[in-house]
Amino acid sequence: MTQMPTRRAVAVNYHFVRPARPGRFALRAHETPERFDRQLAQMSKRLRFCRAGELVDPRSDVPESSVLLSFDDGARDVMAWALPLLEKHGATASIFVCALPYLEGRLLEIQKIEYLMKKLGIDGFHDSFYAEYEQRFGSEIEREPLDFAGGYEFYRYDVEAVRRFKLDLNYRIPYAQVTPILDALFAKVFGADAEADAVRETYLSIDDLKQLVDRGFELGVHTHRHRVLPRLDFEAQKREIETGAAWLRDLTGQTRLSVAYPYGFHDENTHRAMRELGLQAGLSMERRAITPRDLLDRWGLPRYDVNDCFDRESNEMKESVFSQITAGTQGPNG
Ligand SMILES: [Zn+2]
Repeated sequence: MTQMPTRRAVAVNYHFVRPARPGRFALRAHETPERFDRQLAQMSKRLRFCRAGELVDPRSDVPESSVLLSFDDGARDVMAWALPLLEKHGATASIFVCALPYLEGRLLEIQKIEYLMKKLGIDGFHDSFYAEYEQRFGSEIEREPLDFAGGYEFYRYDVEAVRRFKLDLNYRIPYAQVTPILDALFAKVFGADAEADAVRETYLSIDDLKQLVDRGFELGVHTHRHRVLPRLDFEAQKREIETGAAWLRDLTGQTRLSVAYPYGFHDENTHRAMRELGLQAGLSMERRAITPRDLLDRWGLPRYDVNDCFDRESNEMKESVFSQITAGTQGPNG
């Protein structure tokens, strides 16, 4: 086996970067370009940036310590707002995209939920959701177990009722029930034809994706439909990953593809599917730095959320995160 003894990285994950200017499809939280600019300035002073593919490739020429910037969900914000700032600071990034918006013209449920939550408010959305549930499936709610999460503390900052609702939406009520309810509510609230507009306003276009590749960014797989992989059996997991990978391969000609697992969850079946599909690496949301050992077993690379890496008030980079890869050095060449 090839040796990769000392390489380390901090992976920082972003979703949306945009000015606070709510349109028809509004988000509750995102980074502003000003904050992102300052985050890049701080990181670029001390570290260099890498993409997922080169980080796991022992033959690549990446520094001993680097930052892997990633963007999940393929928001058009990457092109519109993040790209000029990334290029200004000489930073590269890996952008993880789901196939569903492109193959079927549909919004991912995670964004459908976000837009409904913002529009109706948490209480309004809660009440409409369960009313719709009862009408379709009765008053007994069917819930799947959370065994796959291994004791992970979901939504620990939310009050209990909100926490339970978000768990039902994203993890517990079967997809076969949640999907039609969300479709119906979205059409009711935003209009029957709104989904196509929302897709256009939310995600990178095909042309954007090609441009990003031309400009040296890496596109990665965020699966087909953004399902929680360990909720699915092996065959279904493999299909989710394979559909996303095949679509991206056809679009870009890239053959070595990395995967960011939706919500970060993965299990032994995920790893087996990744191996069988010949993929390169898998990124989780386990909050710690990437160590040399992680790079040898590439199916669960840890990754921070941007909120873990910069103070919400001051926007200063957190030493507890970055000193893991910079301690004892004077910067990229130290
Ligand atoms: Zn995602």
